[in-house]
Amino acid sequence: MQLYLNQKLKIYNSLSGKKEIFKPLNEGHIGMYVCGPTVYSNVHLGNCRTFMSFDMIFRYLKHLGYKVRYVRNITDAGHLVDDAEDGEDKIAKKARLEQLEPMEVVQRYTIDFHNILEQFNFLPPSIEPTATGHIIEQIEIIKDILEKGFAYEVNGSVYFDVSKFNDSYEYGKLSGRKLEDMIANTRELAAQDDKKSPQDFALWKKAEPQHIMRWPSPWGDGFPGWHLECTAMSTKYLGETFDIHGGGMDLKFPHHECEIAQAEACYGHSPVRYWMHANMLTMNGKKMAKSTGNNILPGEIFTGENDILSKAFSPSVVRFFMMQAHYTSILDLSNDALLASEKGFSRLMDSLSVLEGLETGSSSDFDVEAWRQQCYDAMNDDFNTPILIANLFEAVKHINLIKEGKENITSADKDILTQTLNGFIFDILGLEQKGGTSEDAGKLSGVVELLIKLRKEARENKDFATSDKIRDQLAELGIQLKDGKEGTTFSI
Ligand SMILES: [Zn+2]
Repeated sequence: MQLYLNQKLKIYNSLSGKKEIFKPLNEGHIGMYVCGPTVYSNVHLGNCRTFMSFDMIFRYLKHLGYKVRYVRNITDAGHLVDDAEDGEDKIAKKARLEQLEPMEVVQRYTIDFHNILEQFNFLPPSIEPTATGHIIEQIEIIKDILEKGFAYEVNGSVYFDVSKFNDSYEYGKLSGRKLEDMIANTRELAAQDDKKSPQDFALWKKAEPQHIMRWPSPWGDGFPGWHLECTAMSTKYLGETFDIHGGGMDLKFPHHECEIAQAEACYGHSPVRYWMHANMLTMNGKKMAKSTGNNILPGEIFTGENDILSKAFSPSVVRFFMMQAHYTSILDLSNDALLASEKGFSRLMDSLSVLEGLETGSSSDFDVEAWRQQCYDAMNDDFNTPILIANLFEAVKHINLIKEGKENITSADKDILTQTLNGFIFDILGLEQKGGTSEDAGKLSGVVELLIKLRKEARENKDFATSDKIRDQLAELGIQLKDGKEGTTFSI
């Protein structure tokens, strides 16, 4: 019997603003779409948090026994610099600045994205389609919307007619906005603007002669609007109605609002049953942004090559840190928070080896069955990973009491405990145990500290051949030394 039959999952639906009992369209099957990255720069840590939340959700749905088709796209065209209707295509701009082919930009940052996600131990989605691979499908949708009267063509561009749409449907229902208020709060259209109203958005944009990313269409050479690709790809792989659509909170408006409008205009009904939005990541209490310097790349955390944190942190520690907050809450990253997560993570990992060696008895002082259900209850309550982790530490407490001889556990309960902990820690939270126990890690760092000391002595004796040899051979083993004001530190 599949687990989902007795575990009642509830999901917070951003559209209704309520937690709802989850019931997929087709029993046992789930279609899930998550807006992927625009591959014009290294993947942002905040975006990693969003994708990690949906990786955990994907893992839990699979754990419950659902067959999940998870589609996460790659935006490789159409996303304009200011996220709205003006400005250059983000990828075309990067290509121009770096004198590269747009597809070189796409390739470089798609590889970076996959590399970081692999280090974070993400499961690959079932399908990872690209916008440029679905131009034909996007053109077909535009034709359909034009035919139904919810779009108009001007000078080779096609715009979605928001007012017309709002006469029969409700534009703004996901983000809780009213069209009248939006109209009242917007500036006048610029004289050269082709749009009838500032709220209208581009389905197809005419390509100016200098624009390098262009495709032929019934309206002339151009490129698709950003919102359209997600409608085209989600419909193609998941159908006109599917179960879950996810993304970052910042995509609610206008991106997801426009996706709803496009699909309703085409198919006459709402495309998504459960809308889910992950919240943002801040750093030291402030919004992360390249422009203010309050920014760090995932790779810089793993290697320790940054001026913000005191040391390197492994991908699993960062993942554990992110899982300690609910996906709908704002999470603040700081050195202290990561240090605390590292401690907690080792405690959890160590308890697994302690558990393995525990002696069993004829009775249990710990109700393992009830505890296991509490773990499920936490996850069933809109994927509440912080409560789940609190429950995992409840088990750690009992494991230590049993080890000290203050409590007992039967062999059958020990098996359930082991299986449940492994399932939640590795399969659902997606954590990985690398480099053995913290005891092993302690020995390793002792050895590296000793080599750092010998290298320092060699340098003081001007024996640079030896000091360089120590540094280079450690680097070959994957251990980087970093010389700083307060001495030498290392990262693995
Ligand atoms: Zn999207």
